[in-house]
Amino acid sequence: MAKLYFRYGAVGSAKTLNLLAVAHNYRQQQKRVLIIKPGLDTRFGASQVRSRAGLEQEADVVLHAGDQIDESRLAGVDCLLVDEAQFLEARVIDQLRHVAIEFRIPVICYGLRTDYRRRLFPGSQRLLELADSIEEVKTTCAFCNKKAIYNLKMVAGRAVPPDDLGPVVDLGCEEKYLPTCAGCYAAKISRADG
Ligand SMILES: [Zn+2]
Repeated sequence: MAKLYFRYGAVGSAKTLNLLAVAHNYRQQQKRVLIIKPGLDTRFGASQVRSRAGLEQEADVVLHAGDQIDESRLAGVDCLLVDEAQFLEARVIDQLRHVAIEFRIPVICYGLRTDYRRRLFPGSQRLLELADSIEEVKTTCAFCNKKAIYNLKMVAGRAVPPDDLGPVVDLGCEEKYLPTCAGCYAAKISRADG
């Protein structure tokens, strides 16, 4: 078997940059990677995988609601790389687990652990349950120098508290979500309530 990896981090932790670097390294060694992303993430165009640092490339597979990975595409593939894995359905994560075991292809998933309410995304929950290796991709709080663990949602310059009933998935421009430590998150949402 090969391993299923979950590399999680807050927004702005260069997860996609990390993914693109891994893809580059495999290709340098004449190996084949397959890049997968959920269709839900259309910030940069439906099939682009793009880091905030500006690097980008086309995803090989875009999975929409109800899709499964076509396993005939796995022949000759040395590694599966999954961007924005938090948005995948739990049964797709189950399929990735199966691929790592039965096809002996390592699967490296990048994604957010929790939404701005500090609740697990369904895809992240399933990855935390199933992955062989769970690694944090670290970044610094937007307001202090501690490690960020949450994603603070900002709308029109105001922090959105976790009991806000707006849509959970609201993919937008960069300034809408900020990586924060627990202390700064609490301070910002209490100020938003007052
Ligand atoms: Zn902080």
